[in-house]
Amino acid sequence: MQHFPIFLAVAGQTIVLSGGGDAAMAKLRLLFKTEAKLVVITPSPNPEITRWAAQGKLSLIARTMQSGDAVGAALFYGANEDDAEDARVAAIATTEGALVNIVDNLADSQFITPAIVDRDPVTVAIGTEGAAPVLARAIKADLETRLPQSLGTLARIGKTFRHAVDVLPLGRKRRDFWASFYFGSGPKALEENGAAAIIPTLETLLDQQIMASDVAGHVDLVGAGPGDPELLTLKARNAIDKADVVIHDRLVTSEILELARREAIIIDAGKEGFGPSMDQSHIDALIVEHAQNGHQVVRLKAGDPTVFGRLDEEIAALETADISYSIIPGITAASAAVASIGQSLTKRGRNSAVRLITGHDTKGYADHDWAALAAPGEVAAIYMGKKSARFIQGRLLMHGADIATPVTIIENVSRTDQRIIATTLGALEPTMSNANLTGPAITFYGLAPRDAATQSLSLKEFA
Ligand code: SAH
Repeated sequence: MQHFPIFLAVAGQTIVLSGGGDAAMAKLRLLFKTEAKLVVITPSPNPEITRWAAQGKLSLIARTMQSGDAVGAALFYGANEDDAEDARVAAIATTEGALVNIVDNLADSQFITPAIVDRDPVTVAIGTEGAAPVLARAIKADLETRLPQSLGTLARIGKTFRHAVDVLPLGRKRRDFWASFYFGSGPKALEENGAAAIIPTLETLLDQQIMASDVAGHVDLVGAGPGDPELLTLKARNAIDKADVVIHDRLVTSEILELARREAIIIDAGKEGFGPSMDQSHIDALIVEHAQNGHQVVRLKAGDPTVFGRLDEEIAALETADISYSIIPGITAASAAVASIGQSLTKRGRNSAVRLITGHDTKGYADHDWAALAAPGEVAAIYMGKKSARFIQGRLLMHGADIATPVTIIENVSRTDQRIIATTLGALEPTMSNANLTGPAITFYGLAPRDAATQSLSLKEFA
């Protein structure tokens, strides 16, 4: 982010604009929304600007700008549509301590004016750092249709009621109150009975909320999928949206954690592979404790929570503590990985079964029915199989598996740094070691990428 969005207090402050043509007028129309004092400096004002000056909407200084004109100004706009003149006036304004924007000149501007959706006091500012004004306009148009005009009225009146709501404890109860006002009874009252009905509606709602018994905590055991936020289920997304507390594994990506509410407590339970991690009983206790405090807890696990997720231990803790919970499935790494190589997990005539196996278990390298796996056509998705690659390779070969059996390693599935490495059982090691995997990886035994080009390229690179 090269530009950090903030909302600047400009009520009563001076904003100076140099220019008198179309660019100046477009900016002025926007600046009229503020409660700032506007000063326009131009030797050749458009008649409209002169009219605005006569109406008292701005002060007009009808000459070219000179030193001293921007003293005390909070913001300055260079809108002369003339590079040399804008550079000259911007230099004056900068010296005099104003923040400077030159219209259509990102490089020499200290700030950008975003596209704005105005439901005062609710303001949405959209910026693309100059990269895609078309995109900003499209987002604005979309929000304009989605945010009712009444939102501003509701927010203005709601603001006067904030103190009264202090009787509700901070957190879920207070949030539920405002949510049901803004998205339920508020718009309804305004539409049916006008602005005068809003305060009585707030009072009734507050009474109801005070009387309502304390809400019980709840835990959603949620699958976050392999990393791409678009691979979240809608149900997972909704659970994250309303969570007070999110307790997540290390493999859950920051893009997904970003979706949580700003006030949500985010706890990294860091349970990746064999790195330093929070002990499982500690995690169980944390989940229980937050739910007992009446919180909406999301226990967010990579992929699907039911696949190598130690879900049952957490469920047992919740049941012991008599806490309500639900399981929200996610896309497991094997599903996303197989899609990335254009294959199916099962295929008629090739494999009518697929195994999800782990390279490791609590006792070390995990043992499996190697003889069955070694048979031609078998397919297995190997989770946590980086360190155990040599062990798995050895066991399978010992049980008669063909060295030419295709094996595909997929790292960082669904993320921007996804890598596909195609090899064979015979070459699994050293390919695995040479690949220097730093992200999570899943290994498909018995599957090659559909695209043969990927295969030969990867073989050359890593074998
Ligand atoms: N519950 C998870 C698996 C947890 S075990 C799921 O359903 O996917 C952790 C292992 O999952 C990792 O060692 C790796 O083998 C695999 N894994 C998880 N996310 C992955 C990703 N984005 N890319 C590749 N492998 C992944």
